[in-house]
Amino acid sequence: MNEKFDIFGGIYVHIPYCVRKCPYCDFYSGVDHSSVPMFLESLEREIEMVGGIDQTFDTLYIGGGTPSVLEPEAIARIIEATHRHFNIRTDVETTLEVNPGTTSRESLIKYRRAGVNRLNIGVQSFQDKNLKFLGRIHSVDESISSIEWARQAGFDNIGLDLIYGLPGQDQKNWLTDLRRALETETEHLSCYMLTCESGTPLSRNVKSGRIQWPEDGTVRALFDITIDFLATHGFLQYEISNFARQTDSGSEARYSRHNQKYWSFAPYTGLGPSAHSFIPFERYWNHRSLENYVRQINAGQLPISEKETLTREQMIMEAIYLGLRTTRGIDLDEFEKMFDISFLKAFEAKIAELKKEGLIKLSNSHCALTPQGMAYLDSIAAMLTSQDMTDDR
Ligand code: SF4
Repeated sequence: MNEKFDIFGGIYVHIPYCVRKCPYCDFYSGVDHSSVPMFLESLEREIEMVGGIDQTFDTLYIGGGTPSVLEPEAIARIIEATHRHFNIRTDVETTLEVNPGTTSRESLIKYRRAGVNRLNIGVQSFQDKNLKFLGRIHSVDESISSIEWARQAGFDNIGLDLIYGLPGQDQKNWLTDLRRALETETEHLSCYMLTCESGTPLSRNVKSGRIQWPEDGTVRALFDITIDFLATHGFLQYEISNFARQTDSGSEARYSRHNQKYWSFAPYTGLGPSAHSFIPFERYWNHRSLENYVRQINAGQLPISEKETLTREQMIMEAIYLGLRTTRGIDLDEFEKMFDISFLKAFEAKIAELKKEGLIKLSNSHCALTPQGMAYLDSIAAMLTSQDMTDDR
């Protein structure tokens, strides 16, 4: 396996706090904030321990949880600590996830001053009824205020998160959310399908029949109209759930530089409880519980819970799955350079079949899913990766 990776890495910091737990969420976060000072201290120690590695970073992403439950001074402290201990480029993209209901005009001004230059706002829906179903703490008015305050604070790179596929949601209802999102003139949209994660209150309600889960076909139709609607309104889909507004000046659309690292095998370093890291060819992740995370750091050790070294076969599977998530697709030359095999030759028969069905498209340099193929990403990736790769060198 040859080394062919993005030269710059990304840093992800996980803030494990929320105001209230949403019933569909399985991210690691707690609602008791009394441990915040201890968490911040441990995080700084982790930054110090991991820092100094031989890697230049051009993105810093502070996510969660709900990072905006922390005081802006705490966010500033985290940003300062990363700059003190890591080699971070001056043109770094620094993203902060914020949720409406936990922001204020003042906090947004302070985030901007602290060096945040991109905001990801967890709007989820522009309809109060949907927000209520999702168990969110905020109202539509609070989302609008957050966006307005962010603009006034000088943010010119804002992404909004939306969720679709709610039980009972029809196309008209989802289009209302998309239209209202466009009215805000956001630079970026992430449209996530609601998923039923096991162990969540949502999944218990679906299992017991209290909530009727939508049919696959209904949700697929919502996915299809998302792509069509956003394309006709100047948004480029660059990943299955991510869309960036094309700029009038012809300059590059505002893709999330950080998220692209996850789909392109770039190295990333995760800090905080449950954060994942990938340094070719190793993947490792931190303890999920804050207690274990803090205990390990207090013992002077990195809070790593598990580590795995990816085999050539695993890397090939990842390259296929991650490449097909993006509209650019799998870069055929890069694939060959990395694995010493031709993607087209190795999967010739399966690619021909998928092409005949209109699910995959080929250019001289790339192999990508068509919009119809995107709806079947998981099964197409599974079909390709089920092939035994040991004899294909
Ligand atoms: S705010 Fe986000 S991270 Fe927190 S519980 Fe809700 S979905 Fe999960």
